[in-house]
Amino acid sequence: MVMNLWQQANKYLVGGVNSPVRAFGPVGGNPVFIAKAKGSKVWDVEGQQYIDYVGSWGALIAGHAHPKIIAAASAALKKGSSFGAPTEAETELAQEICQAFPSIQKVRLVSSGTEAVMGAINVARVYSGRKQVITFKGCYHGWILSADTNKKILPYNDLEAVSKVIKKEHKQIGAIIVEPVAGNMGVKAPKPEFLKGLRRLADRFKIVLIFDEIITGFRIAYGGAQEYFGIKADLTCLGKVIGGGFPIAAYGGKKEVMDLVAPKGSVYQAGTLSGNPVAVAAGLATLKILSSKGVYVKLEERTKELCLGMKKPFSQIGSMFSFVFGSENEFRRFFWKLLRQGIYFAPSASEANFISLAHSDRDIKETIKKGGAL
Ligand code: PLP
Repeated sequence: MVMNLWQQANKYLVGGVNSPVRAFGPVGGNPVFIAKAKGSKVWDVEGQQYIDYVGSWGALIAGHAHPKIIAAASAALKKGSSFGAPTEAETELAQEICQAFPSIQKVRLVSSGTEAVMGAINVARVYSGRKQVITFKGCYHGWILSADTNKKILPYNDLEAVSKVIKKEHKQIGAIIVEPVAGNMGVKAPKPEFLKGLRRLADRFKIVLIFDEIITGFRIAYGGAQEYFGIKADLTCLGKVIGGGFPIAAYGGKKEVMDLVAPKGSVYQAGTLSGNPVAVAAGLATLKILSSKGVYVKLEERTKELCLGMKKPFSQIGSMFSFVFGSENEFRRFFWKLLRQGIYFAPSASEANFISLAHSDRDIKETIKKGGAL
C-alpha cells in the first residue's frame, strides 16, 4: 500500500514530495506517509507508531495537535479562514514578538521563512544602499536566497575571513545574514567570539546584521539566540515555532529600517494570506504555552538526557540536536534501523532534530534503549 502511495505521488508530484528532504534521499527513499499525529508521536498510513524527533522541522515545540493550540486555531477558523484585512490578533502577535526580542521594534508577518528572509534582505539592501550579502557555508535561509547571485559565501565561525572580506569590499556589502546557531549542517554552535565579532563589524561598516532565527526563535530561549547569547541583531527572521504548525513567519527589527517597507516606505512586500488569522491564533497559543516558567530548562534537560544516552558524538543547544556520523552510510544505517523500530529522526544528517514539550521520559528511555546500542 505504501509503495503504491509512493508510486502515485511520483506520478503527480515532482520527486513525489512538496519539499525535497521529505523524499528520504536524493533518489527517492520510499518515505513514510503520515496519517495522523498526537503529542510526541506520528502514525503512518499502515498504523505504525513513531516517536517523532522531526516535529515538522522544529515548528511543533509543544508537540503534535496540542489541545490548546488546536482549540485556538479551531475557534479562529470558525470565525473565518482569511480576511485579507487587519485583525486584532496580528497586533497581539507582533507585540509579543517585540517584547520577546528587544531588538525588534516593528514586525511584518508573512507566510513562510523563505519569504521572511527575502523581505529582510530586500529592506537591508535598500537601507544600506548596497546589494551584496554575506552568507555562511552550511547555513540555510530558504530557497530563494539559495538562488540569489548577489551573495558571498564565507565559512561559518570564521570571523577572520569575514573581517578580511568586509575590509576590502564593504562598499558593496549591505547585509550579513547568519543562523546564530546553525541548524542546517547538523546543529552547530557559534564560537563565542563569532556573533559578537559580526556585530562589531556590522556596526563599524554600517552593514545590516540579520539573524535568521527561523529555527532558534522561541526555540532555544523565548527570546531566541539573541537572548541566549546576549547579542542584538538589526533585523530578525522568525518562523516555525511562531505559527504552532501553521504557515506563518515574520521579519522585524529597528523601526528606522522596517519603516522602509510598504505602505510606509518604498520597499514593496505583500501577501494574500499574510497574518492569517488561524495561523496567528495557533502562534499566540504556542507562545502562551512557552511563556510558563521552566519550559526551556525542561526542554534542554530532556534533550541532554537523550543525547548522552545515545552514546554517539552529538551537538546540542537547547532542544535542537544532531548526531555526528563518520559517513553517509553510517547515518543511513542508523536512520533506517531506528525508523523500522518506530523512532523517527530527521532523514538527513545535515538536518537538526527537535525535542518538544510532549516528549516524555518514557519516549526518551525507549529511544535510548533502541538507539543507544547502534
Ligand atoms: N531559515 C532557516 C534557518 C530554516 O531552517 C528554514 C527552513 O527550514 C528557512 C529559513 C526557510 O523557511 P521555510 O521553509 O518556512 O520557507
